[in-house]
Parts: sequence; structure tokens; C-alpha cells
Amino acid sequence: MPKIQVLPEQLCLMIAAGEIVERPASVVKELVENAIDAGGTRILIEVEEAGRRLIRVSDNGEGIGPEDAETAFLRHATSKLRAESDLLSIRTMGFRGEALPSIGAVARVRLVTGLSGSPVGTEVRMNGGRLVTGREAPSPGGTLVEVEELFYNTPARKKFLRSNSTELVQIVRAVELAALSHPWIQFRLSHNGRLFFDRPAVRDELERVLQVYGHGDPSDLIEVGGAVDWIRLKGLISRPGERAARRNPMEFFLNRRPIRNPTLAHAVLEAYGTLLGKGRQPRVFLFIEIDPSRVDVNVHPAKREIRFRDSQSVHQFVRHTLRERLQKEGFVVPGSFEESVPGPRSLSGFPIGSYREGPARDAQPRKGGDGSADQTREALEHYRPIESGLRADAPDDRIPSGSFDWPRTIETLGQVDDTYIVAVVDSELHLIDQHAAHERLLYERLRTQHREARLAVQPLLLPEVVDLAVGEAVGLREIGPLLARIGIETEPFGERSVRILALPGLLGAMDGARLLHELLEGYREEARIGEEAILSGMMASMACQAAIKAHQALGAEQMKRLLEDLYREAVPPTCPHGRPIRFRFTRPELERLFLRR
Ligand code: ADP
Ligand code: MG
Repeated sequence: MPKIQVLPEQLCLMIAAGEIVERPASVVKELVENAIDAGGTRILIEVEEAGRRLIRVSDNGEGIGPEDAETAFLRHATSKLRAESDLLSIRTMGFRGEALPSIGAVARVRLVTGLSGSPVGTEVRMNGGRLVTGREAPSPGGTLVEVEELFYNTPARKKFLRSNSTELVQIVRAVELAALSHPWIQFRLSHNGRLFFDRPAVRDELERVLQVYGHGDPSDLIEVGGAVDWIRLKGLISRPGERAARRNPMEFFLNRRPIRNPTLAHAVLEAYGTLLGKGRQPRVFLFIEIDPSRVDVNVHPAKREIRFRDSQSVHQFVRHTLRERLQKEGFVVPGSFEESVPGPRSLSGFPIGSYREGPARDAQPRKGGDGSADQTREALEHYRPIESGLRADAPDDRIPSGSFDWPRTIETLGQVDDTYIVAVVDSELHLIDQHAAHERLLYERLRTQHREARLAVQPLLLPEVVDLAVGEAVGLREIGPLLARIGIETEPFGERSVRILALPGLLGAMDGARLLHELLEGYREEARIGEEAILSGMMASMACQAAIKAHQALGAEQMKRLLEDLYREAVPPTCPHGRPIRFRFTRPELERLFLRR
């Protein structure tokens, strides 16, 4: 009996589905893209339980005729591609003909559709890969696709889903990405029957960006644009300066398709050069139109990655366009060698310094994350030396195991490297990490006040408005009440912004925006642990941010007060992250070291 067999069709479908339908957001993305390709002007997305129970996408596009409705569910059945040569001129979001059959393989799908102008439509169902014959149904005036019980027949995949909030973040992001590059379409998303957002049609992409992200100061963003014969770019980029946050989104759209791409990410970072602080990332929305024959979109099942035929020219064009714009705004890019670079008219063939294309990417959909941090990391990996890891401070036996005792005398002698306090405490020599010590102190105080429900709150004289990334906005809906319990009072301020009204009093003046970003980011990573653990983690973050920093010169009084507090309040001997606070040398130890004993 032969060992090699062709797999049954149903199994093929499941395997293909594995690549395309990773999570509810993938379904949303595929259905929304189909709706876009159908030429509608309104797309409604309804999800329940973050898409686990139900995903419903409806549009007012061209619809599918009765003779095609079943075919749409066959593998590699598409109306968007006829011949291989069409691959070089793809303008639609879809073309692989895989989405509907793949979704139908791992969920219960119902499609109702009708050609525009006809009152009669067709209904087709597919359950776990089995197609149910279509029948007549009233036309919804476009197409409606309902996906229920995703992964009901693939429990392994179901287990990999993250918390509802994480899955919802991905869904919101999928819709938002589609909305950004299709400004003439209205997008409406609701979750569990509640409207999440409604974005009416606007004039162009830039207006859409402001519609989605625009509750901050629009003057923070600079419009850019440029074109040569085969590539055109427009977009918004952030003004270099204070607001360049660590995890700003860098969104790239190529022929309206949202993509991740290290070439583009790197070109942007190079354009800003040292105008960005270390590890910072500008906020960037770039809409690029390129001759479809100059790019290969068929390298990734979800089409999130593409390959430029000539990535060096693209890199150079983007970097040049952005840098020129920044210079026009009066930002001199330090170390700029742009003066010697010819204008975009003579782009081809110009060498571009340190840039090289990364190794060919495999066509694996990447797990988790929104990709924008990913691509930056990737860009940096390819183009900068990888920093070596820090040497870990191994605690040793000189770290006391219990908490600190209350000493009789404390004499501070000074600092080493503006980081470690040197002190004589009851005739022992102590070395104290000022940041770790202060951090632990603040943390313990926060916890005590929280435990005893007497957390002192300091209202801000000027409430601080903070712009949030989509994940953060979703996170805040969930943890807003938790934040209030540890003294961070906020109120919504538009769809994507929030106002900080008060902070815990004992932390002193601190950067509320930074704190909030960090807490929301941390929360996302820890979303599944218990509430108390989340609160503790948040208090640790707050303490860390408010604490005296390393490399900060301290006066004698400050050092003395810190040490007195440290010893009086009997805090545990490590910082909340487990690093030691203190090393001490007792008198016998000193004697041994100097061979007196
Ligand atoms: P692809 O989008 O790659 O062509 P799909 O499996 O997503 O493949 O869809 C198969 C076909 O079904 C499409 O080519 C299109 O003709 C039709 N179709 C799917 N969704 C819609 C829709 N919302 N409106 C009109 N036609 C649709
Ligand atoms: Mg499609």
C-alpha cells in the first residue's frame, strides 16, 4: 500500500485556515477587506465576546450573484484574479480566494448577499468545512457575513486565544487599519451590542488619521508628500520633540494595504536621525502608492508583508522625502549628509550608506503584537549592532536576608557614581542603591496606604490630556476603576484621549502621561493574572517612576533622610523587581578582608 496520499479536501482547508485565520481579528480583517473590494461605502462590524461568539460584517457593496454565491466558498475561488499576469497589477485587497473557505472550515458561516438593485438574494451556509446548498433569501442590499463559534472544531487553536481584551484590541486595530487607508468608506464597529466607534466618510487619509487619532494637538503632526514617476507618498509624521513616545505607531500603507516593512521603518528612523532620543520612535502614517509591478504582494498568506522589487530606491525616496520635510520645518538633522544627496529625480542607483535588505522573510504570520513594534525591532536588528546584555548583579551573601533593622547611628559619606550611597551605619560599611531603596520605600508606602484604604490623592492643578494608542484605550476601559483605586483618577476626553485628574500624593510631581502609558502597557502583558497582582504590579511601576534615579546627585540631607526612612520603615531588602538594595560589610568582615583576623 502506498504511503503517500493526497490529503482530503477538508483537511487541506483546515491547514490553509491555520495560516489565514489565526484569531478573531483575522476573520474581521478578511471580511472587511472583502467588503472594501465590493466597492461599498458603508461597512458595519458587529462582534460579540471579542469575536469568539459572533462576528458579523455587512456592507452595501456590489453583492454576489446567485450563480456565484456557492463558488465563493470554494478554495482558490476569486473574482479578482484571472491570469498569472494579473498578479503584477493587483489593486484589490484580496486575490487569493482563500478567506471564505478558510473561515468556513473553522466556524459556522452564513453569507447573505444580493446584487444591487435586486430584491432577491442568496443565502449560503458553511459549517466546519461542509457547504450547505444555497437558497433564495431577501437581499440585504449588499453582503452580510456572519461567523459564529470560531474554532469550535479546532480546540487547540481556541486554546491559543488570549483574553477578550487582547482579542478585542486586535479587532479594533484591524478595522482601524482598514479605515485609515479607505477614508471614503464609513466604518462602524460595535462590541456586545455597544457602539465602539463610528467613523463617517471623510475627504482623505490625512483627515482620517486625525479622525482616529486627532484628540491630541494636531500641530504635533507634519504633513509630508512627494512623488516620482513610479512612487508617491503622502502622510503625517510627528514633529521631533518631547512627545516622541517609545511605542508610537509607525503605520505604513502600500497601495492601501496596511503592511509591516523593515525597509520603510528603517528609512523613517534614518530620516529623523538623532532628532529622536535613544529608543524613541516617531509617530508616522505613510500612505504609499507604488506601481504594482514594482512590488510583490504575494509573499504572505495574510498579505501583511510585501517585497519591493527595488527596496533601495524605496528606502532612499522615503528617507529623502521625510528628511527634506523635517529640514523645511527647521529641524536640522545632525550628522546629515543629505546636502550631497541628489533630489528624488535622480534616485536610481544612488548608494545609501549602511542600509541593506534583511534576509528573505519566510511567509509565516507572526504571533501576537500589532506589528509596529516588531518591524522597528526588526529594522534595528538589521541595521545596527546588537547591544550586548547587561551583566546581571548577582546577589551574594552580604545581602541581609530579613528586612533592615533600626540602627542607632547613620552617617552618610557620599555617593559613588551618583548612584550608590556610601554610609557608616552602626560601625558597618553600607552601600545602598539609591534608586532601588527609594523605589522600595515608595512601593511599601503605596501598599500600606492602599491596604488601609487611605491612599492620599493629589488633584492636578492642570489636568493632563494624554493621547492613547488603541490598545491603551481599550485597556483603560477595563482598568480605569483599578487605577482609581490606586490614586490615579482619569476621565475620558474624546474617543482616544483621557484626562488625568489626580495622582497619588505621596509620589510628588511626576509625569502622568508616561506613567499612564507604562501602566497600560504593563497591564496588557499581565491581563490574565489576578486583580491584586495587577494592582501590585502597577504600584511597583509607579514607585519605580517616582523614585530617585540612578546617576542623580543627592545632597547630604537627602541621602540622610532616605537612609533614615529606609531603616525606620523596615522595608524588605530588595527593590520590587528583586534587585538588592544594599550591600554591607560588618566589622568582622572588614577585619577579615584586611587580614586583621
Ligand atoms: P478573495 O477576496 O481573495 O477573492 P475570498 O475567499 O475572500 O477571496 O472571497 C471569494 C470571492 O467572494 C471574492 O473574490 C468575491 O468575488 C466574493 N466576495 C466575498 N465577499 C464579498 C462581499 N462582501 N461582497 C461581494 N463579493 C464578495
Ligand atoms: Mg478576500
